[in-house]
Amino acid sequence: MTFIEKIKAFCKKIADYLFIDDYSCIICRKELDDEHRHYALCDDCLARLPFKAEGNKCNICGDYIEQGVYCKRCQVAAPYYDKAYAPFDYVDDIRKIIIHYKDRKQSYLGKYITRFLVDYSYVVCIKCDAVAYVPSDKKSIKRRGFDHMQAVAKRFCDERELPLIDVISRKIKIKDQTKLKYEERVNAVKDAFELKDGVDVTELQGKTVLLLDDVLTTGATASAIAKIFKEAGVHEVIVLTLAR
Ligand SMILES: [Zn+2]
Ligand SMILES: [Zn+2]
Repeated sequence: MTFIEKIKAFCKKIADYLFIDDYSCIICRKELDDEHRHYALCDDCLARLPFKAEGNKCNICGDYIEQGVYCKRCQVAAPYYDKAYAPFDYVDDIRKIIIHYKDRKQSYLGKYITRFLVDYSYVVCIKCDAVAYVPSDKKSIKRRGFDHMQAVAKRFCDERELPLIDVISRKIKIKDQTKLKYEERVNAVKDAFELKDGVDVTELQGKTVLLLDDVLTTGATASAIAKIFKEAGVHEVIVLTLAR
């Protein structure tokens, strides 16, 4: 890194630290007028976001499929959740926003991630009785200083006036799953979560729970949590992630 690059990187860090909510584009930093404060994105950056393409998708997990109703994976072994929604593909600026939010200390991005989730939950008409989230493991919470999805879920519940059910805990850290095959992922997350001690399961019975996460990759994590909810008597588990 040259000296100039170092100075630029330092200035960017300061700019990120001093970021004033809603006043500049979260991607290009262009100053925003009143119309663009909702997502804090300028027109150009908003238009470039990787919105999910139209076309055929699996009726359960939402994965792109060429034909039919369900993807091969859901046909072979349907996940425990009932349906998964995501407004974006996990690429480009959406990937960056998620990584910068949870691992680069840009916690202000949580507000805009939540806004996308809330608005999309209305677009696809999600109706639920309560909201849950995929909790992080203790080490990640310590490193990041917060549980990034708990923060989003709290804000989501405030905006949609829904109760948050904070009943799932993560027993173990799941190793990086990106290189694992689906069956290996299912095994890796099988015992990673549990119901917290003292949870009154009668309060969950017959309910529709919305489970929030940042990204759905194979859906193995969401399915593992949905299984716990279903075994506790939850009627339906809908998954909403920013990307998949
Ligand atoms: Zn921009
Ligand atoms: Zn599927």
